[in-house]
Amino acid sequence: MSKKLDPVTQAIRIRTTQTSQHEHTTPLYLTSSFTFDEAEAMRAAFADESDDNIYSRFSNPNVDEFIAKMCALEGADAGFATATGMSAIFSSMFALLKQGDHLICCSSVFGSTYTLVTKYLQRFGIESTLVPAGDPAAWEAAVQANSKMVYLETPTNPQLEVIDLERVGQFAKKHKLILNVDNCFATPLLQRPIDFGADLVVHSATKWIDGQGRVLGGVIVGNAELVKEIYLFCRNTGPSLSPFNAWILSKSLETLDVRMQRHCENALNIAQALQSNPHVAWVKYPFLPGHPQYDIAKKQMKAGGGVFCMELKGGLAAGRKFLDSLELLSVTANLGDSRSIASHPASTTHSKLTDAERLAVGITPGLIRISSGLEKAADILADICQALEKSAL
Ligand SMILES: *Cc1c(COP(=O)(O)O)cnc(C)c1O
Repeated sequence: MSKKLDPVTQAIRIRTTQTSQHEHTTPLYLTSSFTFDEAEAMRAAFADESDDNIYSRFSNPNVDEFIAKMCALEGADAGFATATGMSAIFSSMFALLKQGDHLICCSSVFGSTYTLVTKYLQRFGIESTLVPAGDPAAWEAAVQANSKMVYLETPTNPQLEVIDLERVGQFAKKHKLILNVDNCFATPLLQRPIDFGADLVVHSATKWIDGQGRVLGGVIVGNAELVKEIYLFCRNTGPSLSPFNAWILSKSLETLDVRMQRHCENALNIAQALQSNPHVAWVKYPFLPGHPQYDIAKKQMKAGGGVFCMELKGGLAAGRKFLDSLELLSVTANLGDSRSIASHPASTTHSKLTDAERLAVGITPGLIRISSGLEKAADILADICQALEKSAL
């Protein structure tokens, strides 16, 4: 497809070759393997001399279509799609790091990523240093002779710290480190880490990319050489995305741009309104001027994203009462859905951390994370306000 088309248009128009049925929408290729007319064609496919599909653990038309769209959106050369966001993150690390290597990882990362880095990488002799998101000097101090990769999320989950991608990009380049960025919260529509020097971008496609709470999925895109290593690792270890989920995710990308516009607009308007609520200690959203990294967010993001968080004055007890008092918002362990969601990280996603570890990454007892859905902002706000009233009783 012509490179001149805007990535948003490409994400709508990229598709696998039409079959003889001339279908408008890509059919679902639910097949575990692919046949060959001749032994020679099969030999060539196995020898990497052709692009023919062999087996759906390696490649599949639906999966390839989803990957091609993600590459267009992120400005990447190549990619591989996985069954979940965590298998994308796991594979991006285990395919490229080996015993004796060192990983520099932002301390505020998704709960399972934290466990992966601090528990499992270590078990295989891969060292790691956790550095605070907002302290560039600490990143510099963490560099060792065996450092190989820098891993981060921005905005971070759930406290929405914004990391200066331009600065980290220069840091990674200076020390010849692979820069691996989880771009789940921003999506490529709001921020493109590769433009700032990232070598790899990973996603939980489960969130905004699906955007309707239906399927799990993940994807890794970036530098072709690194992705080749990851592809070979995944081809042999098997975290591949199913064709059905890829079909859903590829269709979802056709509406990502319009959905993100509405999610971001809702989040900004609701966060703004809650700043003056008497039961709320503070509200944090990347595009609110009070955000500590507001200028960086404005520099590297097109909008602030669909998630904001707030601290209830009543702490833990108020947080629980708030969840119990919601009538419209869903209480569920997900985000990036057309339906607005409230969660309480201290008792859910970050419950495996100790109190001290939670506080170190900014997870206070009354912290509520809101994922703004596509409902009318006034309805979302009204439900939050009535639940806040009840939480303070
Ligand atoms: C949800 C999430 C993940 C994990 O993705 P799964 O699809 O649930 O495996 C990773 N990173 C971030 C930022 C997430 O929000």
